[in-house]
Amino acid sequence: MVIKAELHCHIEGAAHPELVLKQAQKYNVDVSAIISAENQYIWHDFTSFIGAYDLSASLFRSPQDYHDLAYDVFHRMAEQDCIYGEIFASPDHAARIGCTYSELISAIASGIDTANSKSGIEGRIIVVGVRHEGVESVEKAARDVAKYPHKLVTGFGIAGDERVGDHKDFTKAFAIAKDAGLGLTGHAGELCGAQSVRDAIDHWGITRIGHGVRAIEDPGLVERIAEEGLVLEACPGSNISLEVFPDFKSHPFRTLEEAGCKMTLNSDDPPYFHTSLQREYDIAREFFGYNDEELLGFTITAIEAAFVDGETRKRLLEKCTQ
Ligand SMILES: [Zn+2]
Repeated sequence: MVIKAELHCHIEGAAHPELVLKQAQKYNVDVSAIISAENQYIWHDFTSFIGAYDLSASLFRSPQDYHDLAYDVFHRMAEQDCIYGEIFASPDHAARIGCTYSELISAIASGIDTANSKSGIEGRIIVVGVRHEGVESVEKAARDVAKYPHKLVTGFGIAGDERVGDHKDFTKAFAIAKDAGLGLTGHAGELCGAQSVRDAIDHWGITRIGHGVRAIEDPGLVERIAEEGLVLEACPGSNISLEVFPDFKSHPFRTLEEAGCKMTLNSDDPPYFHTSLQREYDIAREFFGYNDEELLGFTITAIEAAFVDGETRKRLLEKCTQ
C-alpha cells in the first residue's frame, strides 16, 4: 500500500458510524434515521446531510468523548498506511459541550497521543473558525489559539459556508494566528469559484488552500498558484458527493497538477461522503491515471506542506523513501 498523509479532515465529520452508534447507546439516543443497517450515514440533500452531521456531532459531549473520537479517527488513518494527519477542530464545540478551549484541545491531543503510541502515526490539530458563525467568532478562535498554545496545535484555518461574508473581513483573524506562529489554510474554491480562491490568497496570507479546485475556472489564477507554490488540499470524493463537479472524469485534479500546482489528496468528512483516505488515493489511480510512485509524490507534497517542525518533517519524509 502507498504511504499516505492527510491534511484536510474535520474531526466531527470523520466520526465513523460504528463509533457514533456506540455514543448513541451511551446517551440513549435513536440514530436509526441517520445510520443505516449497513453502518452508513443516510442523507440525500444538503439539509439532510447537515441534519445527520449535527445529530452525530451532538453525541460527543465530554472531553473523554473527544479523546475517543480523536483516537478512533487517527487509528483508522493509521490502518490505511497514513503516517501523518492533521485534523480540523472548532473551539465553538467546546462551549457546546461545556468545557474550555484548552480542555477540548487537550482531549483531542490525548486521543492523538494514544493513537501515536499504538501505531506511530503523527498528528497535529488545526483550529478552525467557522465562517458562517461570523467575524467575531472566527477572531475569537484565533485569539484562543494565540493565548493558549499547545504543542499539537500548529495551524489555523477557516471552514464553514464559503458563501457567507467577505474574505477581507477575516484578515485580522489570520494575522493574529500568523503572529502566534501558526501555519495558515482556508476553505475556498469549493462552493464558490475562482474569485473566492483569489480573495483567499490576497487577504489571508495562506500557504495552503482547502479545496481550491475551482481555481480551474481562471487560467491566470492557476498559473499564479503554481508560481507561488501554494498547496491545494484536494478532496475529490467530497467534491463529487456535493456535486461541485458532475463526476470524477470531469474533476480538474490532473489538469491542475499538470499546470504545476502542488496537489494533495484528502478525505474531508470521509464517512459522510462514503470515502476514506485510501479511497481518495484509489480514485486518483483509477480516474486520474496516477501510478503508485506518483501517488507517493502527493504524500511527499503533503508532508512538505505539513504544519510541523523541521525535525518531524525530516523523519516523516524518511519514512516515505524507505
Ligand atoms: Zn473541509
